[in-house]
Amino acid sequence: MATIFSKIIAGEIPCYKIAETEDFFAFLDINPLAKGHTLCVPKKEIDYIYDLDDNTLSGLHLFAKKVALALEKCIECKRVGVLVIGTEVPHAHVHLIPFQQEVQMAITSPRGKVSQEEMIEISTKVQAVFAEMN
Ligand code: 5GP
Repeated sequence: MATIFSKIIAGEIPCYKIAETEDFFAFLDINPLAKGHTLCVPKKEIDYIYDLDDNTLSGLHLFAKKVALALEKCIECKRVGVLVIGTEVPHAHVHLIPFQQEVQMAITSPRGKVSQEEMIEISTKVQAVFAEMN
């Protein structure tokens, strides 16, 4: 059965899109630890990140790097932190978290609420910056 992330990639479930390439997709986490909390996923549906073949794994990290640099340009933060957990959704993904305080990097921290308007604003801005990068 397709994961919720595959349904998002296929456009069957809405998301606040951040970036897309032939093999990878990035969108805002619906329950963010910080403003701009983004998930980067391979389109290939594989649960455990270290089951990805080497090309896909390295491609995912290079894609995440580009997304992180775009996030940094749009969101005030100390830096963009990186997390891989993968216990909730069985589809490999990298969390990018533009944090202001280290506690926001803890997956068990309370999730903040970001309004729909702000989510749209963030995704629009970051998409535009990402599109200008090469
Ligand atoms: P993990 O599997 O790494 O523990 O966490 C999965 C992440 O996916 C969580 O941070 C959760 O908020 C996010 N998430 C789960 N379902 C959805 C969804 O339907 N849409 C979006 N945008 N994020 C989701």
